[in-house]
Formats: sequence, structure tokens, C-alpha cells
Amino acid sequence: MVKVSREDFTCAAATNASAYRRVTVPVLKIEASPGPAVALMAGVHGDEWEGQAAILQLWHLLPGVLQRGTVYLLPAANAEASLAGTRLSPSDAGNLNRAFLGAPVRGYTESVAAALESRLLPRIQALIDVHSGGASLRYLPSSVITRYGDDPFDARLPALARAFGLPHCVFFRGTETGSLPAAASRQGVLRLSAEIGGGRETTRDLVERCRDGLLGCLAELGLLTSAPPAAARPSLYDLDAPAATLRTRESGVFIPGVALGQTVTAGQTIGQLIEPARPDTPLRNLASPQAGTIVCLRAIARSDDGDCLLQVAPALSLDSLASLY
Ligand SMILES: [Zn+2]
Repeated sequence: MVKVSREDFTCAAATNASAYRRVTVPVLKIEASPGPAVALMAGVHGDEWEGQAAILQLWHLLPGVLQRGTVYLLPAANAEASLAGTRLSPSDAGNLNRAFLGAPVRGYTESVAAALESRLLPRIQALIDVHSGGASLRYLPSSVITRYGDDPFDARLPALARAFGLPHCVFFRGTETGSLPAAASRQGVLRLSAEIGGGRETTRDLVERCRDGLLGCLAELGLLTSAPPAAARPSLYDLDAPAATLRTRESGVFIPGVALGQTVTAGQTIGQLIEPARPDTPLRNLASPQAGTIVCLRAIARSDDGDCLLQVAPALSLDSLASLY
């Protein structure tokens, strides 16, 4: 017998126009039977839609199909940012993925992080946390493995990435103590993430691939006894390598000459930076920092010093993941 209950919480989010305003973060708890507890989360950044839409579908679907364990669904972890369609929280400009800093909390965003760290993370063994490129970037549909600090290699991660079913898997290394990976690491929670789509838009296809990936992860974790779909064999891209990210050091209008998924050589021209309002400015060609596949591309043409324009890395076998630890 599946038991469904709401575990919403609210956090103060005062603005100049609303002194005692509070924002509600929706949480659904679905208990099937003894077994692992898993959280499926999206909307840590409010403008990343695939995971938010997919978890909203599971909000209605999962109570009818969960067979074992407990699942917490958080379709919009930063509810204020989701409602505004922004990456950061409107009331305090906070980045929820940098706000897990412990007491005392300084405003709405850190209050949400503190609630997640004290109320959710101690109750779960695994977390699937879906992101996307948001307004400014587009990603190839990828599962994500983030190693925080000196976390040891966890042999369950490649199986979980395969169960997500996406053809790509990117590897990051996290160093900020206030990130969600850091908080999950502190509490020993197994964590897989994803980067799916972006560019201030989404599609039904991407949402359904995300939903099916989340169901595949629940099957891999033993919460669904139905056979998981055929596992993918995703290629692995090490985005921790310094040459994996191209940032502009000048302002201009970015004209990409490559597409997501395209393979390039080191030094190949991947686009140009132009300045139409200053026609005497020489046209600047941009070179790929290394050979590989374009896995992330900036979605906004107007760019400034420090903006990420693309990420590129050679496709590795997922079997090589352990060598990155
Ligand atoms: Zn994000």
C-alpha cells in the first residue's frame, strides 16, 4: 500500500514590497515499503526546465507505480526562482547551489539550503538532481557525475549513469563547500546529476527522456521491480580539465560556427566575436582549446569578459571514470 504525503516547507523571502513574504517549496513523499529512500530534485536553478517538468509528471505517475522504498519529489527546489524563470533567487540574488553554508542563514536562498540539508539529506541514501544549461547555455543531454573534493570513487555511479539512459555523461569536480554536491558528500548521500537542454526553452522529447531516465535510476536503485530499459553506454567527457572550457576575455557578439555534438580539433576555429557597433574593431576568430566533442554551447550572443562560450572534451569510455579519482 503506497502512502503519499506532502512535506512542503516555507522560507522567508522578504522584498521591499512585501515585508513578511514567505515562499513555499513543494515536496511530495511517496512511501511504498521498507527500502532505500531517494530524492528526485530539480529547479535548484529556476530557469532549468527539463527536470522540473519531468518530476512534475512523476508527482502524478509515481504513486501508482512505486514498488519499494521511499521517494521524495522536489520539482522546484528553488520555488521562488522557478516562479520567476530565473537562475538565481529574485529576493536575494542567491545561487541555491552555493548556499549550503550552515547557520546562521542570510536570507531566503540559504534558508532553503538549510532546510534541505537538515530535513531532506539525512533521510535519503541517494539523490538525483537534474540541471540544464538554463538561459545562458545549452548542453547535450547528459548525466553528470560531480566529484566533490577528494571523494573516493563510488562503483555504483557508472551503473546509475547508464540507467539514466542518456548518450553522454560529463564529469565535473566541485570545490565550493556551499554546493549541493558538497552537502550530499558531507552526509554520505550517493548523488547523480544531469545537464539536459537549456537556452530558456525545452521540448516534450527532452522532458520525457529526463522522466524515463529518472525512472531508470529508481529501477537501478531497486525501487521499481519492473525491468529497467536497456541501459545506454554513454561516452564520458572530463570537463574538469582546464582546456575543456573556453571563456571569452573580451566583450562582443558570439557567432558560433559549430554545433552541439560536433567533433573538433585543437585550435580549430569554433566561432567569432564581433562588435557591430564598433565596425573598426577587427573580427576575432575563436579557437577550440582542445580536441573533442562540443558538449555545451553558449545560448546568448552578447557576451562579456569571463563568459563561458563552450565546453569541449574528447569522448572517453565510461569505464575510465575510476581513473579520474
Ligand atoms: Zn543548474
